Amino acid sequence: MPRPLSATINTAALANNLAVARRFAPSAKIWAVVKANAYGHGLARVFPGLRATDGFGLLDLDEAVKLRELGWAGPILLLEGFFRPTDLDLVDRYSLTTALHSDEQLRMLELARLSKPVNIQLKMNSGMNRLGYTPERFQAAWERARAAQGVGQITLMTHFSDADGERGIQAQMAVFERGAQGISGARSLANSAATLWHPASHFDWVRPGIILYGASPSGVHAAIQDTGLQPVMTFSSELIAVQTLAEGQTVGYGSIFAARGPMRIGVVACGYADGYPRLAPEGTPVVVDGVLTRIVGRVSMDMLTVDLTPCPAANVGTRVELWGPALPIDTVASACGTVGYELMCALAPRVPMRAQ
Ligand SMILES: *Cc1c(COP(=O)(O)O)cnc(C)c1O
Repeated sequence: MPRPLSATINTAALANNLAVARRFAPSAKIWAVVKANAYGHGLARVFPGLRATDGFGLLDLDEAVKLRELGWAGPILLLEGFFRPTDLDLVDRYSLTTALHSDEQLRMLELARLSKPVNIQLKMNSGMNRLGYTPERFQAAWERARAAQGVGQITLMTHFSDADGERGIQAQMAVFERGAQGISGARSLANSAATLWHPASHFDWVRPGIILYGASPSGVHAAIQDTGLQPVMTFSSELIAVQTLAEGQTVGYGSIFAARGPMRIGVVACGYADGYPRLAPEGTPVVVDGVLTRIVGRVSMDMLTVDLTPCPAANVGTRVELWGPALPIDTVASACGTVGYELMCALAPRVPMRAQ
């Protein structure tokens, strides 16, 4: 028997969330972002739920090839572009669209021998300062790309640093508009946060990721409560033991939790080797037997321990939801000082996962 720990991927929720993204950006096409193995959900597992998208955005060439093998014939965008001249063989063979953010990439493209021109998304650094041409150099890069035989359609692209926060997108939008002034072509700017909250950034293509999986771009669940987004991943397990502690008795490594009176503790088959954060502090929410309770004691490699005071009927075999429809991943993440993105991406390969 396998451990009673598993993750399920809700295909209908994926399709719903894609429809929500469309409702927020009705005039734009959608790059459904499936990098990092579809944010930990599994590329093959999410594909059926997202096939109504206009294109897929990802990072790794092997993921792009896998999408083609799954039968996707539409656009695929390499969000970081390519890294070596030999990558262009696959870009050509699998008809991939690529971000182009540097002279090094442009040079590789100019020198490549291709069967047909490659569509590119010319990336501007409008303030994030990771990838892209500065606004001052953007026009020259566009002219050089346009002159290159290996380059097909050119879409103008940038990425926001604060679309989910107080700073917003105004400053980067202004930089982008200035750098792209007079240049024709489609535009692609918006991530999930901008898709939801900054319609002025939608233009021709939006690039939502996290909202497709039903989590919040800001890490705050309340921010997406009224959007119609549904959680896609349910991470659940069972109690494999129950302990009754007397006042003063402790639980787990380091004895960081001591009972203030008699209490029952549930031992859950899930630990940091499954991707549950070891840094989850006492009080991190968890749902046992449908009731909200909390983690007590330190998360260990294969187990974690929970307070059973609010769920007296819980016993060995009782279902435990670590996150899912009964407990937003964002709520767990914020208790742990991180965001839903990190938790879903960090799920360990040993966790059995299936679509339903
Ligand atoms: C990851 C990524 C996205 C999607 O970001 P979300 O916040 O998950 O919507 C969009 N564009 C680029 C370039 C990315 O790397």
